[in-house]
Amino acid sequence: APFDIPAEELLKIIFEFASKLAHENDLDQLHLLMAEMGRRLTLADRCTLWIADPEDKILWTKIAHGMDRIKIPIESGLVGAAYRSGEVVSIHDAYKDSRFNPAVDQKTGYRTQSILCIPIRNADQEMIGVYQAVNKQTSPPVFTEKDITYLSLAATYTGQSMEKAILYSELIESQKEIILTMGNIGESRSRETGQHVKRVAAYSYIIARGSGLSEEEARLIELASPMHDIGKVAVPDAILNKPGKLTDIEFNQMKKHAETGYSIFKNSKRKILQAAALIARDHHEKWDGSGYPHGRSGEDIHLYGRIVALADVFDALGSKRPYKDAWPLEKILNLIRFEKGKHFDPELTDVFFDHLEAIEKVRDDYRDES
Ligand code: C2E
Ligand code: FE
Repeated sequence: APFDIPAEELLKIIFEFASKLAHENDLDQLHLLMAEMGRRLTLADRCTLWIADPEDKILWTKIAHGMDRIKIPIESGLVGAAYRSGEVVSIHDAYKDSRFNPAVDQKTGYRTQSILCIPIRNADQEMIGVYQAVNKQTSPPVFTEKDITYLSLAATYTGQSMEKAILYSELIESQKEIILTMGNIGESRSRETGQHVKRVAAYSYIIARGSGLSEEEARLIELASPMHDIGKVAVPDAILNKPGKLTDIEFNQMKKHAETGYSIFKNSKRKILQAAALIARDHHEKWDGSGYPHGRSGEDIHLYGRIVALADVFDALGSKRPYKDAWPLEKILNLIRFEKGKHFDPELTDVFFDHLEAIEKVRDDYRDES
């Protein structure tokens, strides 16, 4: 007789996955966990969670260990049939069903036999994807009514948590994009490429982590550092893009970008923007007190500012500016070594050199175009 999963096994799986899923924020991990839960519930050989992208007319999925997504046309095969109709599709022998698309089997050498496809809906009952279980591992190898019930329950649960996770990751991605875009305002006006802010963010993260800060705090600095020069929006183009050396008057105007950046963010209650305010204010201070805007020295300069100062100068020296050519790496490293304890926090300078390999890798990975 067709085989259903025993009740106590069912409970075990539900408890196991309920707690795992509740603690997982990462969309890809969530995706894989849910596929695994579906596989265990239905005793299937494989289980895939397909998410719909109606704009691109595809369904996509994540595979374990793979970086890329797998995509199929939204109307393709039995998965597509379940998505289009909104109804359960349960087939004992896929090759006897004209809707089945054997292309994937042909590519992978896998032999699909029984298939169970269950549409996934969000809280508003809109279709967002399909659960697909393949090849029941029992004899006879067919999916049962209970399998449909269990996987449908999982689909309901999945629909709600996936939607939350998708919204959450949308939010995080937009936040990152806004930050980089804002950071680029100061840069693009001085004709620098967008790569500068990304590199500074990555260097800052490496130095922050290397100096013993937590992963969370290092990520905060990484997110906030791209906005260090946002105050340059208030500096006239003629100064920003001047091909030669600035006059004292011009440089005094330029120096205001630190305080301007600070005042843009200082009233925010958001952690990232508070960090951005401090970074904008302190990234041109120097350890020996000879920097600006306040001439603070040593640990009176906020740690975030001291970190970004190193990252910013390292990157500025290696980049072409309207007023200077890019320096060769050796010359840059000599300057940083020389400025240890003068411009730069001596401990952070050591951290910088301890992590030079990772820093140089970032430099190679995010080269300026042209
Ligand atoms: P930036 O070009 O992004 O440079 C950031 C910081 O990197 C500079 O802060 C400085 O500490 C370091 N740096 C950059 N290029 C050199 C260099 O050739 N030699 C040395 N020793 N250090 C360098 P700083 O000096 O406070 O300048 C802040 C911003 O003011 C610069 O940002 C740039 O936008 C502008 N700026 C500075 N000097 C000039 C200049 O002579 N001409 C023009 N057109 N702009 C300048
Ligand atoms: Fe600056």
